[in-house]
Amino acid sequence: MPESRASADCALCRKLADPTGWAGDLIWEFPHSLVVLGPWQYFQGYCMLVARPHVRELFELDGPARHAFIDEIATVARALEAEFRPRKLNVEMLGNQVEHLHCHVFPRYRHDPDRLKAVWVALERAATDATERQKLETGLVGRDELRTRIQAQLLRMTS
Ligand SMILES: [Zn+2]
Repeated sequence: MPESRASADCALCRKLADPTGWAGDLIWEFPHSLVVLGPWQYFQGYCMLVARPHVRELFELDGPARHAFIDEIATVARALEAEFRPRKLNVEMLGNQVEHLHCHVFPRYRHDPDRLKAVWVALERAATDATERQKLETGLVGRDELRTRIQAQLLRMTS
């Protein structure tokens, strides 16, 4: 299995080698992934799990590692549900831009006019619209508070 190889060209491998690069955004360290607070906090609680090994696809993890990674995703989703009570969670593994296995967990809320669409529709607008970008980056509460609240839920769920 190719799962232990790290790629020098991969931005996520570089961050995994030195997680201080995530500074205050690192929320949790699971055996198979790291959990990072995402930039788009209009979707309050948005997190990303980064798989520890450099693989492109979920099936490249062997069975136990794959199952554990999926359990870690589900634990984060459950923590976000418990803390923020969103209308729905969007759990997405894409990797079109960064080819290192990672998973976005986006809470979606009733107040979001685009709630029936994928978040990427709004994020595409933000790429060329500074006002939209500002809106999507700004949460109702600060990032330190979000991190603390999510950590408290994860602690509850893993202990
Ligand atoms: Zn990588």
